[in-house]
Amino acid sequence: MSDYVFSPPAIQAIPIFGSDKLFPVNRIFCVGRNYEAHAKEMGVEVDREAPFYFTKSVASISMAEGSISYAKRTENYHYEMELVLAIGTAGLDVGIDQAESLIFGCAAGLDMTRRDLQNNSKKQGRPWDTSKDVEESAVITPIRPIAEVPSFARARIYMSQNGEMKQESDLELMVWSVPEIIADLSTLYHLQPGDLIYTGTPAGVGPVERGDTLVGGVDGVAEFTVSIT
Ligand code: MN
Repeated sequence: MSDYVFSPPAIQAIPIFGSDKLFPVNRIFCVGRNYEAHAKEMGVEVDREAPFYFTKSVASISMAEGSISYAKRTENYHYEMELVLAIGTAGLDVGIDQAESLIFGCAAGLDMTRRDLQNNSKKQGRPWDTSKDVEESAVITPIRPIAEVPSFARARIYMSQNGEMKQESDLELMVWSVPEIIADLSTLYHLQPGDLIYTGTPAGVGPVERGDTLVGGVDGVAEFTVSIT
């Protein structure tokens, strides 16, 4: 066996509620504009023709506890509260009726975004990588195994900033449902155990400041508290 020229990066792994085992992360997919009211606040009409995606690298994972860093090179760092799906079974071209069987569990998370860089990228028709694939930007709680999740079709999703509720909606208002997202994404990628899917944010996104306290969650899945440093 050959030696590596340097130590490979540590495996990023997420704790699981009620288990000593960890969920090793393979890839991170994110759905864009998946709540109509959020699409409107971003100045676009929702498009039911096809969902669209972007990705974050595994290195962007940060557990939703303690503090997360305000990102470099931005003056408009936004929170986006989201339901996160954790894939436990591989699938390609999975039908909508089979899609749920790929889910290992769910978590609550934040898709932190350099909004100023994203707006510039949109104007110039450039990729979103530097606005979305940001270190510590894929914030995630431990994973709730699917058997313990009461519903991912209907549940309150919320986030408060310094005690003031900023995002409050319901998973039933997703433009693309959880099974639809998995089915569609599986026509683009061989979904693999360890893949995470951030399913989009409801309306009410906004900037954070250093010193903020964010409390977010999805009923029946998880709640978290993080501060911004
Ligand atoms: Mn998002």
